Amino acid sequence: MGQMVHASCTCGFDGGTLSIGAGMQDFGSYYLVPAICRKCGAFDVADYFLDPASPCTTCGGPLYFYTEAQPKRKPERTPDLELTDGVADQRQRPSLATESCLCPACGQFTLAFELVGMWD
Ligand SMILES: [Zn+2]
Ligand SMILES: [Zn+2]
Repeated sequence: MGQMVHASCTCGFDGGTLSIGAGMQDFGSYYLVPAICRKCGAFDVADYFLDPASPCTTCGGPLYFYTEAQPKRKPERTPDLELTDGVADQRQRPSLATESCLCPACGQFTLAFELVGMWD
């Protein structure tokens, strides 16, 4: 089940409501994570499981994912999950930063993702 989060910053930036994670249907095939393009400042969700990572849809620059307060490039390949329960083809889901994140508008670490709902 995915989450719906609202991204906002104390500077007045409103990133809108974002659907993140993955739905029940396609669990494991994609994983939406908020991302920022540090070249043009575009802010949206992108598929973290896509290898290689998709570029910014606006300028083609690299995307940085909010897996930490300071958004990071994803690894070249998404790490595979340790096969403890015999389930193959599962990829490790990233954790997401929720508070004190880099704001695309003001450049301060004051962006927050507030959980507003779930989706499937
Ligand atoms: Zn861009
Ligand atoms: Zn801001």
